[in-house]
Amino acid sequence: MEKKYLFSPGPTMLPAQVLLRMAEPIMHHREPEFEKIFAEIREGLRYLFQTKQEVLVFTSSGTGAMEGAVSNILSKGDRALVVRGGKFGERWGEICKAYGIDFIPIDVEWGRAVDPKKIEQILESNPPIRAVYTQATETSTGVRHPIKEIAEIVRRFEDTVIVVDAITGIGVFDIPMDAWGIDVLISGSQKALMLPPGLAFAALSDKAWKFVERSDLPKYYFDFKKELKSAKKNQSSYTPAISLFVGLRETLKMIREEGLEAVFRRHERLASATRAAVKALGLELFAPETPSNALTAIKIPEGIDGSKLQDLFFERFGITVAEGQDRAKGKIIRIAHLGYYERLDMIMVISALEMLLKEMGYAFELGSGVRAAEEVLMA
Ligand SMILES: *Cc1c(COP(=O)(O)O)cnc(C)c1O
Repeated sequence: MEKKYLFSPGPTMLPAQVLLRMAEPIMHHREPEFEKIFAEIREGLRYLFQTKQEVLVFTSSGTGAMEGAVSNILSKGDRALVVRGGKFGERWGEICKAYGIDFIPIDVEWGRAVDPKKIEQILESNPPIRAVYTQATETSTGVRHPIKEIAEIVRRFEDTVIVVDAITGIGVFDIPMDAWGIDVLISGSQKALMLPPGLAFAALSDKAWKFVERSDLPKYYFDFKKELKSAKKNQSSYTPAISLFVGLRETLKMIREEGLEAVFRRHERLASATRAAVKALGLELFAPETPSNALTAIKIPEGIDGSKLQDLFFERFGITVAEGQDRAKGKIIRIAHLGYYERLDMIMVISALEMLLKEMGYAFELGSGVRAAEEVLMA
């Protein structure tokens, strides 16, 4: 028999009740019934993003909202600052390049968080920089960037906005948009939102909407102004991923019932347990100083083939974990715990890790990782 488990940082595992709702016969997106669902979703997203602003929904993967956060915010000749500490930071630079936007990169060593002081220095010495692009979690390295501190700095610059790709931040840890003064906050469906891929989200502050007003970069599908107008009528501008909207209503309800605080605490617990297990096994975290609660990136020990380890997870146990990308390829594996995960899920994946490491000849005491995780989970 074969049973499969996703422990990759997107897509993640889905609750059965959400799958069932999405399997229902499809409705038409201009029906009153769909508009009712849309209205509920708008409310739920405001709660999730901790904002009074409208949260726009696009039918695309998360990158669609990232692209929109360049093409709607900036204008020809604008300059940006891009935090590049991994694959997703690089993506901000690639999108800027595609739109002819000149940008200053801050290249951060993979596995480390950006130093907010560097951002401050560059903003002070290179005016005008219109936007600072960063991640809440750099998913390729497992790092959490200091968004609150960066937002505090950017807030002092009247003509600069902070744009945060929180695709692996929202629904994982506290990132209150309005309270922290985040100007553009982005998410996607296939991570902590417990849905299949296919939806992207973006919310904008009043300051960011002013940037949209003057933006003259080309845009069509990802047109924030047009989508805002539609959303206010409980509509989307084009045919939305109707089944995903139906699923989203369900997962937003689940998040609301659990409560954001409890959701954050659960992620903190699962992440702490995983990190404790890693240390107990004599392994090292790839982001030891600033690990995100979304996923745990583990350094592959000397003599162990990282790609082989990832393959064996699937071959032996049907478990998908992520390996490293680019320069981290073969050097790390990444285990996700964002979204629909509970305590025993982590025990399972840690146990699988132990059995595979044993098989591959790594020396440690069997059960030591599981025990360390159990101790955290029982505390
Ligand atoms: C998953 C992810 C994305 C979006 O990738 P898509 O494949 O377009 O959904 C962007 N940024 C981060 C940090 C991510 O983890």
